[in-house]
Amino acid sequence: MNSNNLSLPSLTVAKFGGTSVADYTAMLRCANIIKNDPSVRLVVVSASAGVTNHLVRLGQENVPQEEQESIIASIASIQLNITQNFPTEIEQSLNLSIHELLDELANIALSQSNQYSAKNADAILSFGEQFSSRIFAQVLRSIDVAGEYFNVQQVMKTNSLYGKAVVDEQQLKQSSQSLLLPKLTDKVIVTQGFIGEDGLGNTTTLGRGGSDYSAALLAEALDSERLAIWTDVVGIFTTDPRITSQAKAIKEISFGEAAEMATFGAKILHPATLIPAMRCNIPVFVGSSKEPEKGGTQIKKQVESTPTYRSIALRREQTLVTVKSPAMLHASGFLAQVFSILAKYELSVDLVTTSEISVALTFDNPSGSTQALITTSVVEELEQLCEVTVEHGLSLVAVIGNGLNCAKGIGQTIFETINETNIRLICHGASSNNLCFLVSERDANGVVEKLHNTLFA
Ligand code: ADP
Ligand code: ASP
Ligand code: MG
Repeated sequence: MNSNNLSLPSLTVAKFGGTSVADYTAMLRCANIIKNDPSVRLVVVSASAGVTNHLVRLGQENVPQEEQESIIASIASIQLNITQNFPTEIEQSLNLSIHELLDELANIALSQSNQYSAKNADAILSFGEQFSSRIFAQVLRSIDVAGEYFNVQQVMKTNSLYGKAVVDEQQLKQSSQSLLLPKLTDKVIVTQGFIGEDGLGNTTTLGRGGSDYSAALLAEALDSERLAIWTDVVGIFTTDPRITSQAKAIKEISFGEAAEMATFGAKILHPATLIPAMRCNIPVFVGSSKEPEKGGTQIKKQVESTPTYRSIALRREQTLVTVKSPAMLHASGFLAQVFSILAKYELSVDLVTTSEISVALTFDNPSGSTQALITTSVVEELEQLCEVTVEHGLSLVAVIGNGLNCAKGIGQTIFETINETNIRLICHGASSNNLCFLVSERDANGVVEKLHNTLFA
């Protein structure tokens, strides 16, 4: 599989998430995972836990200067608490670069408070990974692993869609092969997930949780043999273990099933992570950096079992828009008009159900987005065509599995289990891999728990 002509025996790209690089002890554990696996030559890190959330606030409009200062102080304290564990000389030189970054961050935050721009918001968001990658390279060196910092913006070129930038994959392949690959023969390169750079040299980000996706793209660009995602749980579970302690770790899962889970909100993987892995058939491992000895989940092309029920995913903060017009009855072109308005506002429709005179549409609201998804302008424009109702506070529950569109009794099993819950919309039949429905946010956890008890007892 490895077509690189530098003949690295085997190459693993390893990604460490926010909790894995939250503090010195956590970073040290990750460094030891790398030391114990010589195939790991490229390390992609997230920001230390909590830092990106601070930066999201810092990048918003009209943040009072006092609050800005307190946010920057909190970030500084997270990072400096880590560097204080190094011998004094190393700590001092690392802190110099941390303070430089903090000053740069304060300057951008100040100009953001004078005049907000999405460009500045992305520049601000990128700092977490800049800090953690510098520090982590040093942690590696402290245990005699040849860790070296690499600025991913040299290779991760994107368009200028701030907050959700699209990566130029061809360019990534070329520049990774020429700039990154040669370094991997004798170094363990540490780089940033989540961030990129547009054609004008401005910093961009790939969307919250995007480090998984960065790592997968880099694994593809480097013809890597394996991608390892190290996080805070011992693999992919039958549902979010935070919702029910009954959730069970899955040993093996197909690309398709795992991709479906990620798309439907299983936070363990960014929704796009498996696209590059599937394209190049790179197996993905998911495990806990706290308990590496416990193993984890292998995601691969072919797996031994294809159960009817594989998992339950939950996506919060969904918006439901219902458009209703008697003119729709036996008319043609109505839906096309609705969709063209939505396209004009770059709104991507998630699920659709239709009846004679009304259509229900759902929209995902990826966390981190601060703007109202369905603005008054969208509603006003739709209202010229039809009656419009917008509902918030909903969650999408997705039952994921195999052959769900043709197995007998699926609907009965699922809906009997939750027959006391008000269900706002059901999508079944379009995909053999999922059956999903909307419930109110308040009911969501209870619904998942009950369903899990029935489907995975
Ligand atoms: P990281 O910072 O390492 O990227 P995340 O917080 O993004 O970690 O993702 C890990 C979290 O995903 C877990 O702590 C867990 O609560 C959540 N999660 C959601 N669904 C699942 C699932 N099906 N299996 C495992 N974890 C899940
Ligand atoms: N630090 C970014 C976030 O919190 C990216 C990531 O962790 O994957 O969203
Ligand atoms: Mg994540």
